Amino acid sequence: MIIQPKVRGFICVTAHPTGCAAHIQQQIDYVQHKGSPSGMPKRVLVIGASTGYGLASRIVPAFAGGAATLGIFFERPSENGKPASAGWYNSCAFEKAAHAKGLYAKSINGDAYSEAIKQQTIETIREDLGTVDLVVYSLASPRRTHPTTGVTCKSVLKPIGSSFTAKTVDTDRGVVSDISIEPANEQEIADTVSVMGGEDWEMWISALSEAGVLAPGAKTVAYSYIGPDLTWAIYRNGTIGRAKEDLEASAKRIHNSLSGLGGAAYVSVNKALVTQASSAIPVVPLYISLLYKIMKERGLHEGCIEQVQRLFAERLYNGASPQLDDAGRIRIDDWEMRPEIQAAVAALWPSVTTENLPQISDIVGYREEFLRLFGFGLPGIAYDAEVDPAVPLPCASA
Ligand code: NAD
Repeated sequence: MIIQPKVRGFICVTAHPTGCAAHIQQQIDYVQHKGSPSGMPKRVLVIGASTGYGLASRIVPAFAGGAATLGIFFERPSENGKPASAGWYNSCAFEKAAHAKGLYAKSINGDAYSEAIKQQTIETIREDLGTVDLVVYSLASPRRTHPTTGVTCKSVLKPIGSSFTAKTVDTDRGVVSDISIEPANEQEIADTVSVMGGEDWEMWISALSEAGVLAPGAKTVAYSYIGPDLTWAIYRNGTIGRAKEDLEASAKRIHNSLSGLGGAAYVSVNKALVTQASSAIPVVPLYISLLYKIMKERGLHEGCIEQVQRLFAERLYNGASPQLDDAGRIRIDDWEMRPEIQAAVAALWPSVTTENLPQISDIVGYREEFLRLFGFGLPGIAYDAEVDPAVPLPCASA
């Protein structure tokens, strides 16, 4: 079939297999070009490994450090002649490239919040790897079914306390408008914390620890975001921010629980980037479009792969304990949060309109990056040619 992008609001419902493979290869090339820092982990479990920050967290240890990787994700294979999800094609391409280099790479496609997937992961580690020395927790999900209560909670992106009105952009149509969002109620706050907070990360680490599949000195890292006060009402002070506070509190408990093993748990605060998860957040895509323009002009722009490469080489595996902020977090959002970058974005914010959006923001770059997430717009790919949408995952764990 011929696969073209079909954008519906903030998602693209098609994905291109060879385009996704080319996107993976670009990221592998970047990592290999940067070289291999010493002391990289050798056996890595990535939970949420198929797109965005988690995918980059799989590529970096594999292709910079020769690590064996086990990836967990929830993706849709091709069915009835329809394209698979981008994360499926990414993972197929990742495994193929890793195997071609002689690296162990296996994947488990299923609900990471469930007990069954945790047990399947433990069995796979036991049989194939013995132990893991790094666990990256990079889930972004709109819902979670709790493994013990069976209750399904949905996360919401809402302010807390009072309603919030701000500029936002329809990235597909390029229209800037005001959006007003009513505050979340207590149930919505609790549900968002259940989905995106730290409970599941703690459940993963305690299950892995009890099963004895964490190596001495094992590290674990989960990702968070802070950003500027422009976005605080909807992000840091909103429902998702409450979940991130919970994640940060979990990091401290997990850190203590790993002390017997000489291990460590960290939250890394990352840069705002175009991913499937971030494109769903109101206001944030407009901020990202302005941020990209400023950071690209100053040669400071990074995508997921550059962020994670720097996180591993300069923070997690720099030969010493990573430098932490006052709240005990790793900061790899340091370039985004430089005062001169934030001042430049804040200066543009009040004046941005539908009319001047193409000039004063990088909306074009935003859209290109969004489409690349689904394998579109990559150089050298014949998008008008027939392609088989059914691509097998080479090494899915049974
Ligand atoms: P993403 O949407 O690109 O990736 C989400 C991953 O989670 C995918 O691999 C998906 O398959 C997996 N997943 C979702 N539900 C699952 C389930 N039930 N079981 C198994 N796997 C499941 O998201 P992302 O933007 O890379 O976000 C990853 C983390 O990084 C999140 O914690 C997010 O808050 C954080 N973060 C993102 C940004 C950003 O700007 N994108 C910035 C800082 C921090």
